[in-house]
Amino acid sequence: MKILGIVNQKGGVGKTTTAINLSAYLAAGGRRVLLVDMDAQGNATSGLGQRGIEQGLYQALADPGSAAQYVVEGVQPGLDLLPATPDLAGAGVELIDQADALKDVLAALPGYDLVVIDAPPSLGPLTINVLSAADALIIPLQAEYYALEGLAGLMDTVERVRGTLNPQLRILGVALTMFDGRTNLAQEVEQSARGHFGELVFWSVIPRNVRLSEAPSFAKPIGAFAPLSAGAAAYKRLAEEVMQRVEKI
Ligand code: ADP
Ligand code: MG
Repeated sequence: MKILGIVNQKGGVGKTTTAINLSAYLAAGGRRVLLVDMDAQGNATSGLGQRGIEQGLYQALADPGSAAQYVVEGVQPGLDLLPATPDLAGAGVELIDQADALKDVLAALPGYDLVVIDAPPSLGPLTINVLSAADALIIPLQAEYYALEGLAGLMDTVERVRGTLNPQLRILGVALTMFDGRTNLAQEVEQSARGHFGELVFWSVIPRNVRLSEAPSFAKPIGAFAPLSAGAAAYKRLAEEVMQRVEKI
């Protein structure tokens, strides 16, 4: 079982969109996948049509041995979900001294090939739990001013976690998201990202595509909602790249 964290402390950069669509394509490719919604806003949970859920990851973190009862099975073919509920917002405080709570939850959920974790937009205790549990990180990077500067805090935190909780933690790759190749800015951000991170930057760039933003309100991943869209093609390619890299770790 390989555990992938989708992290960036900035909100609105495409973490949840990447988590949902990557998970769905990895599952469509024949892997048993668990998507863990680690954000109290629950966008991955509602984006897969799960509404009105009362118990989920928060209860699992409090009692890892009970985690299996909170998993929603088969939200898409081959894809299970450990949902977020609003009470997860309070877990930040409770997890300050418990960096391994998520790791314990996942240890209680065997049988998956891949776990994909949708992290919250902060570097607080929930994200520290993600960094502690993950084998590798995928960093969505939106093509905008200061996108790279914003990663400095994340990279410092990754270094700190490597030195203590999780020496094996690696960056699987940086995914450029909401990319509009017609703008100079987007091209400049791509150049500086490839200059700075080199081959870590995935070749598949995710375009700005309205179908990707519409899919969650239809409770579907892009492959089920608009399979012929540019967004679908891009996430399908990204999933293939991710699988190639995961097989090497
Ligand atoms: P995060 O989880 O990092 O906060 P989201 O994945 O929720 O980011 O994306 C923020 C907003 O941008 C959402 O409304 C989402 O639907 C939209 N969005 C994400 N990726 C794209 C894209 N490639 N094209 C168009 N809209 C996108
Ligand atoms: Mg999100």
